[in-house]
Amino acid sequence: MPESSEKSKKAKNAVARPRGFYDILPEENEYWRKFHGLAEEILLAYGFAEMATPILEYTSLFKRTLGETSDVVSKEMFSFTDRSRDSVTLRPEFTAGIARAYIEHGMFNRPQPVKLWSFGPLFRYDRPQAGRQRQFHQLDLEIIGSSQPAADAEIIFLAALICGRAGLEVSVQINSLGSPESRREYLKILKEYYRAKKRFLCDDCKERLGRNPLRLLDCKQPACQEPKKDSPQLVDNLDEESKQHFVKVLEYLDESEVPYVLNPYIVRGLDYYNRTAFEIWPAVPSSAGEEAAQIALGGGGRYDGLIETLGGRPTPAAGLAFGVERLLTEVKRARPDWVAKEKPKVFLARLGEEAAKRSFLLFEKLRASGIKTAANFAKEGLKAQLELADKLGVAFTVILGQKELLDGTIIIRDMENGMQEVVDSAKIDEELKKRLAKKID
Ligand code: AMP
Repeated sequence: MPESSEKSKKAKNAVARPRGFYDILPEENEYWRKFHGLAEEILLAYGFAEMATPILEYTSLFKRTLGETSDVVSKEMFSFTDRSRDSVTLRPEFTAGIARAYIEHGMFNRPQPVKLWSFGPLFRYDRPQAGRQRQFHQLDLEIIGSSQPAADAEIIFLAALICGRAGLEVSVQINSLGSPESRREYLKILKEYYRAKKRFLCDDCKERLGRNPLRLLDCKQPACQEPKKDSPQLVDNLDEESKQHFVKVLEYLDESEVPYVLNPYIVRGLDYYNRTAFEIWPAVPSSAGEEAAQIALGGGGRYDGLIETLGGRPTPAAGLAFGVERLLTEVKRARPDWVAKEKPKVFLARLGEEAAKRSFLLFEKLRASGIKTAANFAKEGLKAQLELADKLGVAFTVILGQKELLDGTIIIRDMENGMQEVVDSAKIDEELKKRLAKKID
């Protein structure tokens, strides 16, 4: 079947997700919640404030900042013309939008640096495959307004810390891209080197040589590996200040016990990076020969020129983005028990309509007193409710019946031996806590 008719067939089917888009089902969501909570706890403690930018921005924002020749802008953006004929784009990354917000809200007037984090969906028209989706999520950190090596190091330290807390062993692959000037000089040397080897390169790299030669260094095609081995290296061509900066960042990492590897092939895909560039890789690739680009959990670096490019005052900055799907895939592999669910201890059952109406407030009383309770407010009949309680493995079922409602009492059923006791309903939380404590003994 020709591709176009295959496509339109899928698009007409109302019960099919678009290619590369995924649902996050409730079981899966447990991991997401836990990861977001973990990031929030750590980042709050380190003085980062969470913020959200719109999912949609004007296309010019990304063209101006990421570079027209970057893969993201040249072939991966979800762009369209809206009803006012403005070209808009579903954000393919966070940093450009955050930099725009920094300028638009005059955040340069706040104490510097401004430390921000964001969490949410991004969109890239990638070819869907393992580890590559068209809608994916990132956890993004930015320190805006500091040129200090400590800022780069703080971001990397936090990246390693967050991974560690999620049970992942990672290695930081780090490089320096130097200043825009030293990079221009280096690119001349690099182009010269590769020109002589052009016929050995893959088709993509032949084209990159003209428009984005730095990307030759992170090509994963077998044909391009041999020429890469002897290629001139960025770190040998750094300007003096960038060299000093890089050494200091590494010293911070040494002192902070962050495991890193100097990797001359980390170049990042976007135009705005300068000096530090890094990626976070799992320490042990999950399968032999897996490509680094496929397994990088996150990446980032310094972007001192970005805010000026957007018309702001010169503002040095550094940032990082984790791919949440990839990170959670690794977490599930490394720590299958990461989201062990806490089981309910008590089930709330009720008999009759009047008791049913009371059950919301009773449930809330138990919840507020810290007793992990379950109920099914839609189920009629005591038998069905007790079966459910049994299935959940609770220690006690609380039964609120018509008679007990009038007496101001309530029944506590021990699920182990079926014994039932009638207690004062006003003291139900205390009575349950007493009995639960005995069960634990
Ligand atoms: P980048 O913004 O390209 O540096 O990507 C940072 C991280 O986001 C990567 O290391 C991946 O973990 C994740 N990522 C990037 N693109 C995709 C994608 N298409 N699908 C899933 N995750 C992605």
